[in-house]
Amino acid sequence: TVRVRFAPSPTGKLHIGGARTAIYNWAFARAMGGTFVLRIEDTDPERSTEENTQVILRAMRWLGLDWDEGPEVGGDFGPYLQTQRFDTYAAALETLKQRDAVYPCFCTKEELDAKRQAAESAGQAYAGYDRTCRNLSAEEVQARLDAGEKCCWRLKVPEDHGPIEFDDAVYGHMSFPADVMDDMIVVRTDGTPTYNFAVVCDDANMGITHVIRGDDHLSNTPRQILIYEALGLTPPTFAHLSMILGGDGKKLSKRHGATSVEEYRDQGFLSDTMVNFLALLGWSLDGETTIIPRDVLCKEFSLDRITKKDAVFDETKLLWMNGQYIKEMDPAEWVRLSRPWLIEAGATEEDIDANPEKYAAMYPLLAEREQRLSDAAEKLPYLFWGPKVELDEKSVNKVLLKEGARAEEVLRAARDIIADESIEWACDPLQDACRALTEKLDMKAKLVFQPIRVAVCGNMVSPPLFESIELMERADIVARIDTVLE
Ligand code: GLU
Repeated sequence: TVRVRFAPSPTGKLHIGGARTAIYNWAFARAMGGTFVLRIEDTDPERSTEENTQVILRAMRWLGLDWDEGPEVGGDFGPYLQTQRFDTYAAALETLKQRDAVYPCFCTKEELDAKRQAAESAGQAYAGYDRTCRNLSAEEVQARLDAGEKCCWRLKVPEDHGPIEFDDAVYGHMSFPADVMDDMIVVRTDGTPTYNFAVVCDDANMGITHVIRGDDHLSNTPRQILIYEALGLTPPTFAHLSMILGGDGKKLSKRHGATSVEEYRDQGFLSDTMVNFLALLGWSLDGETTIIPRDVLCKEFSLDRITKKDAVFDETKLLWMNGQYIKEMDPAEWVRLSRPWLIEAGATEEDIDANPEKYAAMYPLLAEREQRLSDAAEKLPYLFWGPKVELDEKSVNKVLLKEGARAEEVLRAARDIIADESIEWACDPLQDACRALTEKLDMKAKLVFQPIRVAVCGNMVSPPLFESIELMERADIVARIDTVLE
């Protein structure tokens, strides 16, 4: 059965590219009824931090990418942090020694640097390690080991190895010449495994069947295949994912704006949106469907619909898609997820907790046009002004001053309607009563509604007016109109 893994290095946040890799592994595991493993590749002590690990786990949880094995959930193939797996790398090194697939290298860093420099100053490209220690006699090796001389361990790349070939699930048949591979280090002088060695040991020991990862690892793959061969193991299937480009056709980076998953969350994007959107950066269901909820993704995802064409991150499409998901939200869920922005708009924690229905009723005010949950912070403050009104100057000029006397006439009439206790405090009756003014005053609807909108909401582009009024207090609205009339 299928076993896949997402193997982030905790050297930073979970970025867009990493999140896409995680989504593909997760969706593939789900679609195949397989197992999704999360492994933390924290062997780089300088750049890996526990905090980054936590940030990545949190981002994974936020995206809803549940892992079947890994940190926090455990599993039969743990531990799932590379720094806790050093005994397994030591055991693999023993296997390689027994198979005569590695040799100790006593060359010092200074010696190697000198060789590199010599090649460079002779105008030659450094061809990699020159195999000095591969050619030592068995006696000399034993003597130096016995004397406790420091060494690293290098892979004995077979002399007669033909091209290294594999069938990538995305890129198709791949072939790399083996004779340009130098005898790579698998275990360093200090006993730590190199990156490629640790990855192969882990993937093998964890029973990984498919390695789905970014194509920045494509050049590691032939090296890793050599290690599999040296261990006498069959490599898994590889699927390398193409690059994600920004709108300008350049590799996606900070220059293009937000790069981490958390930044998108903090900007008011839904995790459903992010999963759907990122899934489509290089994969398609049928070439046209754009809204693919996660349950469909988990059923339909397949490697053969991954494209090797670079994917373009289209910010406009992301906003549109988020709007689509917001439109489908459950109002209570909307309140829960919008909380920080409702508070920014003027709500209090206590009021949200005490009046969930009131806040759920705000959802329809934005649902049709909200592109990010954070829009609430910008568009809803007027709901929390109480009797005060903050007037937008442009709207005042255009709607109130230009129409002068007529606007005033409307507002006086509207004030009487709003203040009229016999009219039920609800959207429809209030709206009907105000609409009747168009006939009574013989004015176009716009001339009637715009001044009221400005007096109540402060500007002329607010969310639906009477639906909003219903959510506020009668006395407050009267007070706002009075302020404007003064
Ligand atoms: N730890 C690697 C990274 O963060 C991934 C290794 C792999 O997927 O093989 O890029």
